[in-house]
Amino acid sequence: MLKEIDLENLPSPEVCITEVREWLAQRPSKPLAYLHSFGCQLNVAEGEKLSGILKQMGYGFTDDVSQASLILYHTCAVRENAEDRVFGTLGSIKKLKQENPGLILCVTGCMTAQKQVADKMRASYRHVDIVIGTSALNRLAQMIYAHMKGLRYAEDIVTHIDIPENLESVRESSFKAAVPIMYGCNNFCTFCIVPYVRGRERSRTPEHIIEEIRNLVENGYKEIMLLGQNVNSYGKDLENKMTFPELLREINKIPGEYWIRFMSSHPKDATPEMMDTILECEHMAKHLHLPVQSGSNPVLKRMNRRYTVEKYLSQVQYIRDKAPDFSLTTDLIVGFPDESEEDFQKTLDLVKQVRYDNMYSFIYSRRTGTKAAEMPDSTPESEKSQRMQRLLALQREISVENNQRFVGKTIAVLCDGESRKRPGRMTGRSTENMLVEFSGTPDMIGQFVTVRITESHNNMICGELV
Ligand code: SF4
Repeated sequence: MLKEIDLENLPSPEVCITEVREWLAQRPSKPLAYLHSFGCQLNVAEGEKLSGILKQMGYGFTDDVSQASLILYHTCAVRENAEDRVFGTLGSIKKLKQENPGLILCVTGCMTAQKQVADKMRASYRHVDIVIGTSALNRLAQMIYAHMKGLRYAEDIVTHIDIPENLESVRESSFKAAVPIMYGCNNFCTFCIVPYVRGRERSRTPEHIIEEIRNLVENGYKEIMLLGQNVNSYGKDLENKMTFPELLREINKIPGEYWIRFMSSHPKDATPEMMDTILECEHMAKHLHLPVQSGSNPVLKRMNRRYTVEKYLSQVQYIRDKAPDFSLTTDLIVGFPDESEEDFQKTLDLVKQVRYDNMYSFIYSRRTGTKAAEMPDSTPESEKSQRMQRLLALQREISVENNQRFVGKTIAVLCDGESRKRPGRMTGRSTENMLVEFSGTPDMIGQFVTVRITESHNNMICGELV
């Protein structure tokens, strides 16, 4: 029986969900699942949908891995050391499987979409039952069904191009929701593994996106984050083409009290129309995260980013001409292969010119399977660390100065929790995505409040409830 299950000809996911639910219902108590999503917000959002599939099958959830009948790791491939951590975790839970042979151990996501990882898993981690690549939303129910039917090891690392819709999510927050609008990437930046593991760009239809957001807003969600590897190339692959700004304008028509954010956007697709849409639409958060990665044209070329520093600065100028205080943040890679001191100086110059409110900076980390991993690199690690410290110091200085512009202003804040550092105070985010700490009470969590800003620091602004 074990060898006769054809993974290509399994019943539909819906049928598999029903069959597994009936199988699990025979157990004396409700089986529990432990799910951990590593990596980016897209992975977290997919993890919420995977939880939805497990819930439909009849699983409850636990944070205690030792209590679980099913363990699912939804992995990330961006950094190699994150992969090492997953292998370490899998090694450490081997004894749980020995103690409980009925435990189902499943690994999915970008890491397992790589053939060499799946090969390693099959050969050396034989306690793993199910391995799926980036198509877990399509395949999870079927693979658990195959396992239920007696298949010892089920594997599918093929990237499926269809996007499963109408999947319920088990959302972690009751007021902030992430909504993927597209999957995959066509860009092949030379440092990035994503196009190899997530396939080419596939956009969800505007109808599905708008219906999901309308439901969220009707259910009290106040912040919707649109997700994709390159959100502003949305719609190019659709039969009825639609641009990203057109999608934003359609979403903006949904009545209610909410903000729309998005990430990540690519400077090569950041059009004046997109900037105008952000400025003109009432629900659009007044903040743009525009990853520049480097301030040097030769480095941008080696990264295959397909824009120049001059083009990037003209986009910044366009939006700042219309809104001088407009909030911009970015991603920067320090120490890309053979980045010279001159290249790095140009990055510092760009940061001084744009004056970001915040940045996410990373020391370049070599990623097997990418083009950049083959590039010569003569810059010592100690030099890269020093450059990082210089960049962080510059950004700290700029953030301190930028944040002073809020002092004395009264702003809307979406309250998201209690301050960990100062008991009795609450925290939230402004439309610029600025961290705000203020006087308030826990019943404000998930609500918009008005705060008068009295102080600014390098990483947050503080004030009193109005
Ligand atoms: S745009 Fe570049 S960095 Fe972003 S996911 Fe695509 S290839 Fe990776």
